[in-house]
Amino acid sequence: MIWYPYEQMKNMRQPYKILDANGVYLYTADQKLIDSVSSWWCMIHGYKHPELTAAIKQQADNFCHVMLGGLTHEPVQRLSAKLQEFLPGDLDYCFFSDSGSVAVEVSLKMALQYNTNQGRKRPLVLALEHAYHGDTFKAMEVGDDEDYHFAFEQKSGVVHIPTQIPALEEAFAKYHDQLNCFIVEPLLQGAGGMLIYDLPFLQRARELCTQYDVLLIFDEVATGFGRTGNRFVADLVLPDILVLGKALTGGYIGHAATVANHKVFDAFYSDNDRHALMHGPTFMGNALACAAALKGIEIFEREDYMSKIRHIEEVSRRELLGFADPRIKEVRVLGGCACIEVFDGADLEGFQQFAYQRGVFCRPFLRYMYSMVPYIIKDEELVQIFDTMKAWFNR
Ligand SMILES: *Cc1c(COP(=O)(O)O)cnc(C)c1O
Repeated sequence: MIWYPYEQMKNMRQPYKILDANGVYLYTADQKLIDSVSSWWCMIHGYKHPELTAAIKQQADNFCHVMLGGLTHEPVQRLSAKLQEFLPGDLDYCFFSDSGSVAVEVSLKMALQYNTNQGRKRPLVLALEHAYHGDTFKAMEVGDDEDYHFAFEQKSGVVHIPTQIPALEEAFAKYHDQLNCFIVEPLLQGAGGMLIYDLPFLQRARELCTQYDVLLIFDEVATGFGRTGNRFVADLVLPDILVLGKALTGGYIGHAATVANHKVFDAFYSDNDRHALMHGPTFMGNALACAAALKGIEIFEREDYMSKIRHIEEVSRRELLGFADPRIKEVRVLGGCACIEVFDGADLEGFQQFAYQRGVFCRPFLRYMYSMVPYIIKDEELVQIFDTMKAWFNR
């Protein structure tokens, strides 16, 4: 029996069974559906992309996986070199893992140990209200081997602030000598409700983090690879650590990366073995995932995805902004993301089935109806998604 995510199994609707998928389309036995959410925001090139599929097959003919403990291989070397060139600034040190949540854990460990390696006690993490950084919980805490986890013994705490500069300044004034990092989903908070905020907040955060030697972490698991209309928000404001996942492999295989700058790496690079980063996911640097990521980045650059995303944003604005209904609180568009927020989540009940009948797969949550489309989508397909959303309110 499959235990499905985020569901009360007792009353969940039967999931739609997918028999085939190609481009932006999912196929069930009786319907052809545009995937308006890119399989949880990762499937940016669409399904069954011949080059991505071929890259994985080709690597599988060679080998599928070897561990990175004591071994290395060409796909992982090529991917880390590619990311070093592709990512802004001196974000040059790639630590790979198998999922976004784990990559976030790694970034938080880095930030804590960055301080302990320098003999500083800084137990607090600054984060945003409505933040979402993954679902992992307690694996290390229930472990009992001090050889692995000695660097993380101090209990840590989290301070949450809204995305407003006065709150940010106040938090730094109060806690600056206790903070090891400030972690944010930059510009767009996804699972928290597709909330959009402004760049000056991040610019001010960068200044304060530099002033007090607090590491700035951008969790770009969702926003990376163009979703906000920027390749990475890190192109605009440079973090100390960048976390990538979801679209990293074009969604073809789970993989993630925690990419650190020189300052962070240097705090671990020493004659003291206890200054090493004690982390090592079994499937880090998986060869199939690296092959998919390399091919995905090649396509992203070659096909000028950034102009595709700008066009998606234009069409989204044209179709959605100004659309009003007494049940709607706000309509938001940023890059390849569009969201209709309603006052009462009950007003979205039944929308998924309504959209299914109209050939669109969507997955509204709480008070949010949204799209995060594959970048290869055609205009008429995008318009079909927004027409479906508007039709729900115009019934
Ligand atoms: C999805 C997501 C994660 C978690 O990634 P998983 O691969 O599901 O573990 C972390 N941070 C953000 C911003 C995300 O959107």
